[in-house]
This record gives sequence, structure tokens and C-alpha cells, in this order.
Amino acid sequence: MFESLSERLSGALEKLTAKGALTEADVATALREVRVALLEADVSLPVARRFIKQVQDKATGQAVLKSVTPGQMVVKIVHDEMVAMLAGEGDGEAGARLRIDSPPATILMVGLQGSGKTTTAAKLARRLKERDHKRVLMASLDTRRPAAMEQLATLGQQTGIDTLPIVRGQDAVAIARRARQQAMLAGYDVVMLDTAGRLSIDAELMAEVAAVRDAASPNETLLVVDGLTGQDAVHTAENFDGQIGISGVVLTRMDGDGRGGAALSMRAVTGKPIKFVGIGEKMDALEEFHAERVAGRILG
Ligand code: GDP
Repeated sequence: MFESLSERLSGALEKLTAKGALTEADVATALREVRVALLEADVSLPVARRFIKQVQDKATGQAVLKSVTPGQMVVKIVHDEMVAMLAGEGDGEAGARLRIDSPPATILMVGLQGSGKTTTAAKLARRLKERDHKRVLMASLDTRRPAAMEQLATLGQQTGIDTLPIVRGQDAVAIARRARQQAMLAGYDVVMLDTAGRLSIDAELMAEVAAVRDAASPNETLLVVDGLTGQDAVHTAENFDGQIGISGVVLTRMDGDGRGGAALSMRAVTGKPIKFVGIGEKMDALEEFHAERVAGRILG
């Protein structure tokens, strides 16, 4: 992810740092290249425009152009604006923290089929167990696809995370209630509810997820989206947030050769933080999302 964007951006910015003195025209030329690079990485047009305008406003003042190292100052402005775009204002690095203090806390995992939702639920449960020493109970609410329920049970066995025993014939809301009850009785810290996905957003799916949300009052509703799908991932997030209300996003397949636009536009378009990124199929391939680190990786 980000390789081609990173290369293009460093190419454009190196031209500025190589020069001793800079004119407004030099900055404008470099920013045109930055804009094209962002659009080619599948960043949404309004987000790319706003980014360029903000950099331009800050970079073309006399304080920058007349400074001793104008090129480096422009690079710093680009970096700072990128962190702001990725993290949203005010939340800095805290975006990845989950609000799971009052046990049993409920995490609702939502998303389209194939996005990596079930895998991510198990990765996150494992992380909470190993790093935060939480007792986690996972439950699959995918009543339509028995294979999905079994997949979660298998991942539970692999990772040593308990899963709610499967009872055929219960609907998603009943399973969610049973999971919460079991968690209270047995003293679990976190209940991870893996909802059913669909191939695309439909009214039935949204109604089911909304009913589960109302029954389970989740502390976190995490949307899992495929980072390779670029602006589609952002549209999916807008849709889920509008209809269900999400507290954060997990972008999967960030180990793939996508262009990175989903990560760059997500916060600016949806207002919701990216909390984690999936970087592989293995159970430990989940990382907290840090805006500073990602901006650093993009800008080299
Ligand atoms: P679901 O239908 O949304 O529950 O999707 P699954 O969890 O079954 O995942 C679908 C496929 O994507 C599986 O083969 C996963 O191993 C794979 N997958 C999930 N997350 C990632 C990731 O971050 N990187 C890669 N490379 N593959 C992933």
C-alpha cells in the first residue's frame, strides 16, 4: 500500500527541498503534482482539493518563502496537514483506543461479506486477550450462513478465545442477548458480536444490524471495510454510519497493493476514526492505526 503515492510525493517535494530559494510558482507547481498523486491514489476529489488548499494557504506566506529552508518548511506543512487529514482534528493518536472499560463491554462488528469481518473479530479478540488481558467471548450472529458461525468457532479454537455455543434456530437479536447474558454470568470483560454481512448494502441487512444494535447497546460499533476497494470503502462507511452509526473503522488488506485512498479519505469524509488496520491473513496481522506513523510512511 502507499508505495506509488509515496514515490510520487517524494518526487514532487524533493524538487522543493533541492532549491535554496522558493517562489509561489515553485510551490504551486509542486502542489499540482501532489494533487495528481493523491487523486491517482484514489483519494476523493473534495478531500484532495481541501488538502491542497490548506497546504497552499500555509506555504505561500512570506514567513515560509523567506525562511532559511523554505523547501523543508513546505514539506513539514504537507506532513502536518496529512496527519490532520488522517487523524481528524482533536483526537490525535487516541483514535485507536476502544471504549471497553465497563465489563461486559460489547463490540459490534459490522461490514459487507468478504470484507474480513470475521477474521478481524478474532484478531481483535486475540489482541484484547494477549495485550490487555481481557476475557473475551465471541459470538457469530450470522444465522444465514452456518459456515460463518463455524469459521468463528474455528478461529476461537485457534486463538484460545471462547465462542458462544451455537444454537440453531435463534435469530440474531436472540443470540446477541444470549451472548451478553452469558458474559455477565461468566464474568467476561468483552463480548465480540460478529454480525452477518451481505454482498452489498440492503435494507434487510441494515434492519437486522439496527435491531442487534438496539438490543446489545454496543460500546463500540466497528465497521470492517476492504482497504483495497478505495473510494467504495469510504462510501460503504458513509452508508453504515448514516444508517447504523459507527464508532470507528477497521481497514483490512492494507498489506495488499492498493493505492491507499481509502485510508486517506476515510476520516475526512466520514468523520470516523480508522482504529485498526489488517495487514495479513494471520491472527497477529492487526495493527493500531497511527496517523503520524502512516503519514511518515507515505512521506518517507
Ligand atoms: P467476512 O466475510 O467479512 O467475515 O470475511 P472473512 O473474515 O471470512 O475474510 C475473507 C478473506 O479475507 C479471508 O481469506 C481472510 O483471511 C482474508 N483477510 C481478512 N483480513 C485480511 C487482511 O488484512 N489482509 C489479507 N491479505 N487478507 C485478509
